[in-house]
Amino acid sequence: METHFSQLSQHLYVHHGHVNTGILRDGNRALLIDPSGTTLQATLSELGITNVEQILFTHHHRDSTAGFPISNNARIGVPAKEATWFSEVETFWNDPKYRWHLYNYHPHNLMLADAVSVTDTYTEDAQIQWGPASLQVLETPGHTDGSITYLIDVDGERFAFSGDLIYDEGKVWELYSLQKGQQTSDYHGFLGARDELTESLEKVRQASPATLIPTHGIVMNNPDKAIDALLERLAYCYDKYVAISALRHYFPQLFAEFEGHPGHMPIREGTPPPEFLRHFGTTWLIISETNEAFVMDCGSPNVIKQIQQLQADGEISEVTQFWVTHYHDDHVNATPEFQETFPCETITDRVVARVITEPIGFRLPCISPAVTRVDRITQDGDTWQWNEFTMTAYHFPGQTYYHGGLLVEGRGVRMFFAGDSFTMAGIDDYCSGNRNLLGKDVGYEKCLRLIQQLRPTHIFNCHVNPAFDFTDTEIQCMLDTLAEREKCYTALFPWDHANYGMDEHWIRCYPYEQEIGLGETAQLRVEITNHSFEPRTAIAQPILPVSWGIEVPVMETTIPPRTDGHIDFSIPIPQHCEALGRIVVPVDITYDARPLGQFREAIFVF
Ligand SMILES: [Zn+2]
Ligand SMILES: [Zn+2]
Repeated sequence: METHFSQLSQHLYVHHGHVNTGILRDGNRALLIDPSGTTLQATLSELGITNVEQILFTHHHRDSTAGFPISNNARIGVPAKEATWFSEVETFWNDPKYRWHLYNYHPHNLMLADAVSVTDTYTEDAQIQWGPASLQVLETPGHTDGSITYLIDVDGERFAFSGDLIYDEGKVWELYSLQKGQQTSDYHGFLGARDELTESLEKVRQASPATLIPTHGIVMNNPDKAIDALLERLAYCYDKYVAISALRHYFPQLFAEFEGHPGHMPIREGTPPPEFLRHFGTTWLIISETNEAFVMDCGSPNVIKQIQQLQADGEISEVTQFWVTHYHDDHVNATPEFQETFPCETITDRVVARVITEPIGFRLPCISPAVTRVDRITQDGDTWQWNEFTMTAYHFPGQTYYHGGLLVEGRGVRMFFAGDSFTMAGIDDYCSGNRNLLGKDVGYEKCLRLIQQLRPTHIFNCHVNPAFDFTDTEIQCMLDTLAEREKCYTALFPWDHANYGMDEHWIRCYPYEQEIGLGETAQLRVEITNHSFEPRTAIAQPILPVSWGIEVPVMETTIPPRTDGHIDFSIPIPQHCEALGRIVVPVDITYDARPLGQFREAIFVF
């Protein structure tokens, strides 16, 4: 078997698998940093290592902690702040607060399926002596909250194993780990961990290592230059984010320092909505000349009460149609109750319907377990008459990919109900998990082109009282900023398109979670979005619990450029298995010949 490793000094080696594993060797014994994956063993054998005495992990992510069998007598050291995310992972997987209504993403679900026993936990300045080397721990949060860096002094040189703080000069592995709330929940915190990341990189720089070894990435021999390039690029990318961010409307104080920056879109004034509209919570309601009501979204039982009040006051007769803008909990939490109270036709876009009719199949931000019945699924551009209004439905991948838009024409106005997709300050793309794709004909580019073409007189956001519109100049400013973002974010990642680093769900399991019985066959689809301009090959393999004694064959597919592909697995469940309850099934992925380790997971519930 071919091996891939390099020697950094007399005693220090790095195995280059799907991650870099540090190998401190002293004769036939070794200390490993971030061992992961099945190819490591060949390197260890080639180096004559028979005794792995100690293992150190920089952070809890499964794609750098799983897949290398650890012998029982090895010591295992982890960051103290993340110790439970190694040793008690079942508390994460079994807690509904980490499954539904997801507004916080720390710790991350990229976590071991099974716990490991930890022997040592490290905080700032911890010292570790091992053979010819002295190690020192630096707490370096950013990529995760508890990430640490191991400084190694050996053979007269200093090396830093810095986890996933930096991938290469001016690059990071991905951005969704940096989603973090500052004064808000993680949900609104796009790149919210960048200050932490910056401080951590400065701390590493001050320790003056000659060489930086990232977990994912390229060994860096000029740490200063590599860090400077990253900080400069991140600042530029963040500025291009703030320039047209809708959050400037919701949290102006968070963005005060950016006010008046060149290229930042000025915030528009709103206008009062037409008198035949009502707004409660996240719900917009249209009243026709015949006093019928058309309702959009139902996030809380309070909305139901307010609609009943309108009926009691004689303002409306009955609710005759119901439109769901998107799957977020504050828009669908009370739809089952709404549907019982107001028997009427429920209509939504086909992409939204997938999630709200079967939420258990998805793991997405703000997801609700409430199941919505959908009577009519719309395709992009479907149109119908409701009383004096002409309705036209669109797939509208704005605030989330799983989102629709509705044009309502009548009574002399053209109203566009954009769900949560715009405010007067710009676009609502603050959560990587929502899948805000960059590029032509996808994401907000697609939404803005539609607005440009439809020219609504009023745009409505579910959370904002006034209506608003955008001038041609403002639309152009947003389109230009998105085009610039596509370039500058692409430069930030070791991928040929920014979306790989920003779209947390470019590979996903469907269903994410499923109930299954012993002796049955589980169907699992691994969906892959090829964000490249060329065909790409993806290889996947679900990893079942060892005790099941089943190995699922590796399967492969080739996906045309800029489309979704998938691989289907049929997984026979044994008649008898010991551990039942919620079983985490990691999926090992290789994409475009790049192994990614146990990159995604599905949940089987018995
Ligand atoms: Zn990581
Ligand atoms: Zn929303």
